[in-house]
Amino acid sequence: MAKKSPWHAIGSEVYHNNTKCTEGNNIESKNQRAGEGGKRLCRHCKELNK
Ligand SMILES: [Zn+2]
Repeated sequence: MAKKSPWHAIGSEVYHNNTKCTEGNNIESKNQRAGEGGKRLCRHCKELNK
């Protein structure tokens, strides 16, 4: 189960919801926030969720 609740980075245009997303995992914890933040889904996560 790779999907989890969405998170995003401050200043980013996208949110992530897949734990295998390298981009999502590279977000520093201090910049990380929970939720979609009104952003669009990251394209890597979109691929991984298929
Ligand atoms: Zn992502």
